[in-house]
Amino acid sequence: MSFYGNGLIVILNGLNNWGKMRRAKRWRYYCDYCKKSGWSKWYMARHEKVCTKNPNRECGFCEHLGNIVNIEKLKLIVEKTVSGFYLGDWSEMIQEKHDKLVSDCEKDLLKESDGCPACSLAAIRQTKDSEFIEFDYKKAKDQFWADNPREEPEYYYDY
Ligand SMILES: [Zn+2]
Ligand SMILES: [Zn+2]
Repeated sequence: MSFYGNGLIVILNGLNNWGKMRRAKRWRYYCDYCKKSGWSKWYMARHEKVCTKNPNRECGFCEHLGNIVNIEKLKLIVEKTVSGFYLGDWSEMIQEKHDKLVSDCEKDLLKESDGCPACSLAAIRQTKDSEFIEFDYKKAKDQFWADNPREEPEYYYDY
């Protein structure tokens, strides 16, 4: 985790106390992997550990299943999809071909990860040229919890 000086803020203790205003400095914390930031060191440390851009991330969903994450295998699926974008005859049905590749990619990722929404998203976010692959994280997450009931509240797993 990193932090920068532009995270300094000033807290005004009421305008009528202008003369003796109170100033406070707080650190703002920035994830090393994505653009997320926050005032809570604890929260950001927890985020960074599971951040889908972190190549060595831990996964609460897979842990819930007792699975060991194999992100490299998932990334191969994404790479295959990305290279498919540049293959074949694109003169007709471009949109249909693209949509088919993307929906196959989503299906294969979820199958390979036992339905893990976070590992599937992580594989997409960590693979080059994957910005055209849309992935419905919310839908995959709802499906995951429908298939695998839990006792802990949802925020325990989210990032
Ligand atoms: Zn992050
Ligand atoms: Zn996972």
